[in-house]
Amino acid sequence: MATATTSTAAGSERLTSYSPTTGEVLGTVPIHTPADVDAAVARARVASQTWSSRSHEARREELVAFRKALAADVDTLADILHRENGKPIAEGYSEVLNALSHLTHATARAEEAMAPKRVSSGILANFRSTISYHPLGVIGVIGPWNYPLFTPMGSISYALAAGNAVVWKPSELTPLIAVRVAEIAARTFALPDLLQVVTGAGSTGGALARSAVDKIAFTGSAGTGKRVMMAAAERLTPVLLELGGKDPMIVAEDADLEKAAEACVFGALTNAGQACVSIERVYVADAVHDKFVDEVVKQVRELKTGGDDGDLGAMTSAAQVAIVKDHLEEAIAKGAQVKTGGPSAISGNYIQPTVLTNVDHTMKIMKDETFGPVIPIKRVASVDEAVKLANDTTFGLGSAVFGKNARGIAEKLRAGMTAVNSVMAFSGIPNLPFGGVGDSGFGRIHGDEGIREFTRIKSTTEKMFNLPVEMMSFRQPPDAAKRLKGMITQLFGDGVVSRTRDFIAKLRS
Ligand code: NAD
Repeated sequence: MATATTSTAAGSERLTSYSPTTGEVLGTVPIHTPADVDAAVARARVASQTWSSRSHEARREELVAFRKALAADVDTLADILHRENGKPIAEGYSEVLNALSHLTHATARAEEAMAPKRVSSGILANFRSTISYHPLGVIGVIGPWNYPLFTPMGSISYALAAGNAVVWKPSELTPLIAVRVAEIAARTFALPDLLQVVTGAGSTGGALARSAVDKIAFTGSAGTGKRVMMAAAERLTPVLLELGGKDPMIVAEDADLEKAAEACVFGALTNAGQACVSIERVYVADAVHDKFVDEVVKQVRELKTGGDDGDLGAMTSAAQVAIVKDHLEEAIAKGAQVKTGGPSAISGNYIQPTVLTNVDHTMKIMKDETFGPVIPIKRVASVDEAVKLANDTTFGLGSAVFGKNARGIAEKLRAGMTAVNSVMAFSGIPNLPFGGVGDSGFGRIHGDEGIREFTRIKSTTEKMFNLPVEMMSFRQPPDAAKRLKGMITQLFGDGVVSRTRDFIAKLRS
């Protein structure tokens, strides 16, 4: 059964999950119809009503039990990730580790992040004002194939901890990991419909975006993100979009070159370069360019592609191999130099890690998301040129800067996240909100912001005592205009700060 809690009409079509490494069939799942999706959302709605009414403590207890059940299943989860996505088994374990880290954090933080906040009432000083945070209801989560557990769990964990139910549509390339998680959820949570999975391709995702969910958390490509947003617009359903990236890395003249190269190689090649926050392009100061390139090439040549102990696994799909090949061939035709790897070293779903130099911004490899194990390195005359080129993109997800003044350079980058003297680390720090700008999307997962993304924000203000001039009434004294004018002069004229303080103190006395 594809999901723990949904069923599909007999005889309906099924989706097959294949191993990208061997081509073998790993399993099949139903292709859920719009009616199936609507039914799952309706069941989630019922579950959400009970779940949202529970105390944070009660929810925490169940989420901890869920986390422990997932941790107990780690070998199977890592194995499914390894076989279905093609990533090395160690990366499968790393993905489970990161997913559970976020689930733990969201569970622990939700109560404080959602605690009501008292705020100043400004000129309405006789009011007491509060902001409170309430669960939205049902969250639709649509996930990608590259980190098919970690990425959706970055939304699911925060949505559940904030008191919502979830209906999750995994990628059609990697549905089995979601099915496994849904089975664990169904036997762990007292409410079996709290976390449901619907399987299928884009049409099932579209049905979820058009359904009665209270918010869609979408992770995937920018093109699909736009389609999801248009579908959600039919009901004015809010969307959170975690989209692609073209993350730049800047290496200044005074950077520790060996460490920068080590981080670059990992940042560009982990998960075979199929990460939204992969290092996709590198700008290196002229004075250290050649040395940096040599160091990167040396380290890349030490890596092993394929095999049980490989550093790089298979690409997850032939379609992604074709995109990488196209980017490489176009760059080479325009003058890029292959330092190692290259399109001739592509075999089936395996791409040897490739380092290119002599690249420029007329090439797709420097502008479009490549999503493969490629490191294009560009020589720059100055940090200013590096910043200008780094910002020459429609995307704005992650970024990385190496050098003694890396923090200062980081400030100038138009990106949702920057790692200083490191790469990608922001995604593994659950306190940090994660998300992008421009074509990389909007909204934030992770951190307290990620919890509040899945809440309805309510403003409440309570009148505590009466004033001589009542703002919220037509029953004004005859000299109301004069009094209001006096207030404006008092509050917003010269010496406003001290007079405001005095005025408010007088009102309170
Ligand atoms: P994709 O856009 O092709 O698909 C993502 C999901 O959307 C899949 O589940 C798919 O079935 C579904 N879908 C397809 N058409 C749909 C439609 N019309 N309506 C609703 N759902 C639809 O993306 P992908 O190829 O699976 O993932 C790779 C992309 O995801 C890359 O661009 C990568 O950068 C991005 N990504 C972003 C983040 C992030 O946090 N910003 C994380 C991981 C991946």
